[in-house]
Amino acid sequence: MQAAIQTIPLRNRESAADVSGSTANLLQAKIMMVDDEPITMEVVQTFLEDSGYRQFVLVDDPCKALRILEEQRPDLLLLDLKMPEISGFEILQRLRADDRFRHLPVLILSSSSDNADKLQALDLGATDLLSKPVDPSELQLRVRNTLAAKAYQDQLAFYDPLTKLPNRYLFLERLEWALKRAKRHNDVLALLSIELDQFDKISDTLGLIAGDEMLRQLGQRIAGLVRGADLSGFFGTGEDSAANLFHFDGGVFALILRGLRRERDAARAAQQLLETIRQPLQISQTEIYVTASIGISTFPTERVKNIEMLQLASGARGYVKNRGGNAFKFSSRQINTKYQRRINLEARLRKALERDELVLHYQPKLDVAANTITGVEALLRWHIPERGLVPPCQFIPIAEETGLIGPIGEWVLTTACRQQEAWRQAGHPTLDMAVNLSPAQFQNGDLLAAFRKIIAKSGINPRRLILEVTEGVLMEDVDVKIDAMNRLRELGVRLAIDDFGTGYSSLSYLLRLPLDELKIDRSFFVNLFEDAKSRALVSALIHLARNLNLRTVAEGVETEKQLEYLQKEGCDLYQGFLFSPALPSEELSQLLPSGD
Ligand code: C2E
Ligand code: MG
Ligand code: MG
Repeated sequence: MQAAIQTIPLRNRESAADVSGSTANLLQAKIMMVDDEPITMEVVQTFLEDSGYRQFVLVDDPCKALRILEEQRPDLLLLDLKMPEISGFEILQRLRADDRFRHLPVLILSSSSDNADKLQALDLGATDLLSKPVDPSELQLRVRNTLAAKAYQDQLAFYDPLTKLPNRYLFLERLEWALKRAKRHNDVLALLSIELDQFDKISDTLGLIAGDEMLRQLGQRIAGLVRGADLSGFFGTGEDSAANLFHFDGGVFALILRGLRRERDAARAAQQLLETIRQPLQISQTEIYVTASIGISTFPTERVKNIEMLQLASGARGYVKNRGGNAFKFSSRQINTKYQRRINLEARLRKALERDELVLHYQPKLDVAANTITGVEALLRWHIPERGLVPPCQFIPIAEETGLIGPIGEWVLTTACRQQEAWRQAGHPTLDMAVNLSPAQFQNGDLLAAFRKIIAKSGINPRRLILEVTEGVLMEDVDVKIDAMNRLRELGVRLAIDDFGTGYSSLSYLLRLPLDELKIDRSFFVNLFEDAKSRALVSALIHLARNLNLRTVAEGVETEKQLEYLQKEGCDLYQGFLFSPALPSEELSQLLPSGD
């Protein structure tokens, strides 16, 4: 027999035991039913849905009941007594012998009118009984009362009365469950152990009541941050993404972050926590400043058991505290190093503009038929004195994430326009200048105004300027992008779609974009002669572009043979190492014919 599992997952559902007393909260309860007759469960579910319950797990194969119970962690179990293979009695017995389910409320649904059965069920620890066929009102009342009793018990056992946050018992259960799921689904999980640096000192000097007040206020403040949208940017799109905050004894809190996009995003959460905690507190007319030490352990880097994960995070926290607190640290040296490297690079990048470390190199674009230079593409390089050239793939993503791409992009355009003007004056008036636009720049509303100003100031002919936008970028919010592109084009510049063929554009979509040039991605040329499909695609793209009145550019041409092929197919332009990589402006000038 198949186990029918139906659950309606709720995003950010706090915890199975977080079903606190209010009616609205009770309706969040997850109700599991085990019965060999699916129809009975459907009827019961319908009745309960009428009362407002929304989360159900239906299991019609009793042999799977325990496994599913462990996975789903319901708040209430409705259990049939008479089932083939394994009876309700046996399930109940096993539940009560298991520490994790000892206190799970179990309502027995039984058609048996035999008193002995009922007594036995109660003796084995059933919470209450209901006879089949169930009466809807009785069912609804018993379910509500059972859940309310459980909520009260849970509140006492699992919640800290001061901060109203779940305590360390619930934490351990929660962590075990979260870690198991993360392992099964290969999700990224982080555990943050947070300690208030001055808790003991403040309790000692201002008294216990002030200490309690401080915990209450900070607990609320941190919970607000965790609940708020501020942390949401760190999560992936998985159903299981959530943040759960716990309060241990004294000034110690723990935060579990499930379904993160990357392990290092836990650092951003830690940073926000530190900032939130640092805001002054008002306690009995005194302004108090508190800081925290945070240790972070993460999965998958640390493949350990739940309790070890806590130890790792606490260890890292202790290290931070011993060095003065008000900071965070990962338990994994590997992640610390990675994170540190990235932070250093980010800090350096912030200074790169003012230190004049950015340079543009220019790669020639050539006419395929005549093999003459018709223009150049400006490619950004970052020159760190002690490290040498850093390629854009290493720092453009950082610039995009930090918003530095705004000023950097404007610098690129200004420099490229200035260079073009210099070449014009040196006798190359028809040389095209291509500049790359990043998706993040594209989203910036001021882009247009800034670009208009830069172009006007430079004195260049805007027709000689080509802005390249990567295909993938254009795929999202198509209408907004088309609108932005149209407005850019009104400045008189030309637009190119870059890396074409990698972003899965549909052809009808290509027709709608205001484009002048199509750049066929380098990847198609790598195996051009080994792979008939690449050839077919390149040839089809060239013909398509021609019919759409677009100029085609082949990217990454490295061999004569590739060039011959492009000549045969009638591709307009090419760029690639065959003729030249991107070069500093002075070197590129050497390649230009004297007096164009
Ligand atoms: P892209 O615009 O597609 O630039 C072409 C890339 O291919 C360049 O890498 C270029 O050096 C490389 N390339 C050219 N010919 C060949 C070849 O024959 N063989 C091989 N293997 N590679 C070739 P680069 O300079 O590392 O730039 C990478 C990407 O970084 C660019 O891709 C562009 O998307 C981005 N980028 C570069 N400069 C800027 C900039 O100023 N602003 C923005 N937003 N993005 C930039
Ligand atoms: Mg490009
Ligand atoms: Mg490209």
